[in-house]
Amino acid sequence: MGVTLEIQNLHAKVDGEDISILRGVNLTIKQGEVHAMMGPNGSGKSTLANVLMGNPAYEITEGDILLDGESILEMEPDERSRAGLFLAFQYPVAIPGVTVANFLRHAINARMKEQDPESKGISIPAFRKMMMEKMGKLEMDSSFAGRYLNDGFSGGEKKRAEILQMAVLEPAIAILDETDSGLDIDALRIVAEGVAMLKGPNLGTLVITHYQRILNYIKPDHVHIMFGGRVAESGGAELALRLEEQGYDWVREKYGEPVS
Ligand code: ADP
Ligand code: MG
Repeated sequence: MGVTLEIQNLHAKVDGEDISILRGVNLTIKQGEVHAMMGPNGSGKSTLANVLMGNPAYEITEGDILLDGESILEMEPDERSRAGLFLAFQYPVAIPGVTVANFLRHAINARMKEQDPESKGISIPAFRKMMMEKMGKLEMDSSFAGRYLNDGFSGGEKKRAEILQMAVLEPAIAILDETDSGLDIDALRIVAEGVAMLKGPNLGTLVITHYQRILNYIKPDHVHIMFGGRVAESGGAELALRLEEQGYDWVREKYGEPVS
């Protein structure tokens, strides 16, 4: 039995404000499944990603998030990460002074220590070998490992660094928030093929995207439309194609302009 992420009737707002952004999100993602979450700008997609990872800027007012049957609401973001959740950010932050390689090695070691407090962590040669292998698969130049994380990275490089983190950390459930936004067609292909390559029985993915194009590479099993802070529609790949052809107008007509 694989790991399951269950989002139950989730309501959330910006901490200290009154207006709800998420207004009853229900969604279940199992290891091995690829879900696409689409929806117009402002519908709450990034808020959902942030709330899943425990961003303290948001307050959950109702509902629950279960990972493997256990509520994660009281867990800090790093605990959620060690429990197998991963979020690729829409806007990754730079960490000058910390190389990509060091960042990844520390992340792996933190995980190994969680499983075994006596663990000395991964050896440097073993880590290098593993990282170079994953970078090769993602068509990344080896010099990338020695650069400071996201410092001066192009849009495409930042997104590739996120995918590399995902490849190295091997999460049970990964959430990709608009990993395709701001990429030219070549960068999009490499990032999307990277994600498609990581697809497998041990990875459940929530691909958040405004556009259908990344889904040509990452074939989703389920497609959802977020509207007004809820999952308004769910279906198969045909739902994404309908959005590609018809845009979001029919969704707005069917569900009305969201009210606050
Ligand atoms: P999407 O990712 O679907 O475009 P978001 O989740 O980013 O939508 O935003 C949903 C709504 O919540 C928007 O109206 C946005 O302005 C508001 N919102 C989200 N995060 C914040 C925040 N930290 N502070 C204020 N408003 C926010
Ligand atoms: Mg967003």
